[in-house]
Amino acid sequence: MELVPNVHAVKLLSCTGYLITEERLTLIDAGLPGSRRPLERYLRRIGRRFDELERIVCTHGHLDHIGGVRELAAGGAGVLIHPDDAAGLAVTFREAVRARALGPLLHYFTPHPGQTMPITHGDTIPVLGGLTVVHTPGHTPGSVCLWAPKHRILFTGDVLQVIRRRLTYASSIFSHDYAAARQAVSRLAQLDPEVIALAHYQPWTVDCRATLDRLAQAAG
Ligand SMILES: [Zn+2]
Ligand SMILES: [Zn+2]
Repeated sequence: MELVPNVHAVKLLSCTGYLITEERLTLIDAGLPGSRRPLERYLRRIGRRFDELERIVCTHGHLDHIGGVRELAAGGAGVLIHPDDAAGLAVTFREAVRARALGPLLHYFTPHPGQTMPITHGDTIPVLGGLTVVHTPGHTPGSVCLWAPKHRILFTGDVLQVIRRRLTYASSIFSHDYAAARQAVSRLAQLDPEVIALAHYQPWTVDCRATLDRLAQAAG
């Protein structure tokens, strides 16, 4: 489904990938292993080719977002991820157990994405007239949102979710640091999106700014 011109929501396995179709292709998030097939099917439908994929931007290092990254990068696409999650994914079993927390274990059971390129707060990815990286740690240490001011689209990965039809903070169960994940929304409240593109829900388009403001304030 084309969300706005040149931005497509593509159902991958377990998460929605956002495909940016310019001269080359950029994909935000890679789904579970096995996501190459649904992506290729979608590309065929819109008349594009898999080998046009230039980069995959990972919002964070959870299995449902980067599990498919190796097969999707097999044609030579670069893989971009925040260094805090690239480092977290290298955790050993012993370190994960010693941490006595779910986050490092989730990282341990996620296959490493292989060679990656770092993206950090304030970086601009050269698509959509400039796609800005907003570091929003908490759900994972290296969770990022991606903001396209020219199109007023905000891609949030798992930093936001929808529960009982309300936009709200990241999952309290699956966030490595839930208090930080709530606080991170204050960075998003400085933006003025028209569309919030979520990883596991339909895009959010109602009162984005006011909703983000409310969440930021309630986070304390
Ligand atoms: Zn996640
Ligand atoms: Zn997810």
